[in-house]
Amino acid sequence: LRWSAVTVDNGTMTTVHDVGEFGLIDRLARIVADARLDAPTAPGFRMRLGIGDDAAAWHADDGVMVTTTDTMVEGVHFAQGTTPWRDVGWKVMAANLSDIAAMGALPLHALVTLGLPGETLLSVVEEMYYGMLEACDRYRLLLVGGDTVSAFNLFISVTVTGRCTSGPLTRSAARPGDAIGVTGSMGGSAGGLRLLQSPDSDTLQGSAAQVLAQAHRRPAPRLEAGQHLVRAGIRCAMDISDGLRADVAKLALASGVGARVQAAQVPVEPCLTELLPKEALQLALNGGEEYELLFTGRPEVVQRIVRELPGAALIGEVTADTPGSVVVIDEDGTELSVMRLGWDHLR
Ligand code: ADP
Ligand code: MG
Repeated sequence: LRWSAVTVDNGTMTTVHDVGEFGLIDRLARIVADARLDAPTAPGFRMRLGIGDDAAAWHADDGVMVTTTDTMVEGVHFAQGTTPWRDVGWKVMAANLSDIAAMGALPLHALVTLGLPGETLLSVVEEMYYGMLEACDRYRLLLVGGDTVSAFNLFISVTVTGRCTSGPLTRSAARPGDAIGVTGSMGGSAGGLRLLQSPDSDTLQGSAAQVLAQAHRRPAPRLEAGQHLVRAGIRCAMDISDGLRADVAKLALASGVGARVQAAQVPVEPCLTELLPKEALQLALNGGEEYELLFTGRPEVVQRIVRELPGAALIGEVTADTPGSVVVIDEDGTELSVMRLGWDHLR
């Protein structure tokens, strides 16, 4: 009977498009919480984090375990032509590993679910596996199983489990007065996609263009940087998958704080500035699939990380403003209007 506590939108015909990806996730999180599921009966199990962070976390005998899942759908996350199949495999594994990195964890193993139209070429599936296995080899995790189903659109869904060396790092630990840092430059992946989508094949000539294309096709999950943050005493982090500004807002909302970002301090990928100077800042603030880590901590701790970790930058500060509010300040101190507010899958 406890299921009836949930208000279903009877008769109003609200769609998932109407509520958007994050409105939908909020509702699902509430339905799950209202169901008050009993704790698993396995002895010693104790949950640490449920829905709402980069990964779920639970206490194990010798530390904290985490698990996360990410999916790529043909025609939504990639199109044949801009992304070779091997890169699709790499990217879906990298997206999961980025969430593992954001928890301050190291990966253990992956499960892979494939949804395949019957006419899918065997070579396509094998290429995706080679891409995933390259990532498993580079970041030291095992591919231990999965599931295979028929589907109208090709999709690939990966779940990765990891173990924290300390922590976990959460989105909800930012406090007013903290400095905000990022582990590397922004906008490379979005710039790469822009070039790859261009009908003019000359745009991919030259080393700067190749750097951007590589950032889009082979994003590097920042597992080593995540470990560095943990060692430095950072407690608050998330990965940047939906755009810097949108993800700062998510972190701020989860922590009940506001944020001010100094546009001039955002490290814009230099090859992006070289090739698309006019759009570089907006792409750096809004481009998705970046997979750098966003983190907050005491200013002196963040400053030390910036000195120690190549590419890292201090980009702003945590404020006591409205929870989830983000102000981006221009070089001359005025508030910058930001064109797009990051990625929402259902809108
Ligand atoms: P990320 O981009 O870091 O992978 P998401 O924005 O996809 O995170 O998800 C935010 C949070 O919502 C995560 O904790 C995730 O596990 C949870 N979540 C997303 N979709 C669902 C769903 N369909 N059911 C339950 N939880 C979900
Ligand atoms: Mg994430």
